[in-house]
Amino acid sequence: MEKKIVKCISTGTSVTNDKGSAIFNCPGCRKHKIVRSYNARQTSVKYKCPACGFIGPN
Ligand SMILES: [Zn+2]
Repeated sequence: MEKKIVKCISTGTSVTNDKGSAIFNCPGCRKHKIVRSYNARQTSVKYKCPACGFIGPN
């Protein structure tokens, strides 16, 4: 079986076992999946959508 590794878009850390992580569609283009680790959310690290360039804190 193949294990999918999901990484935080800001920090690049795996969120596979991160219970506080969030995965949501980009608010800008609604197509790209944004992955945020718990740590990145707590520290309000900015992310940028690789598809449309949207920058956001949520
Ligand atoms: Zn986007």
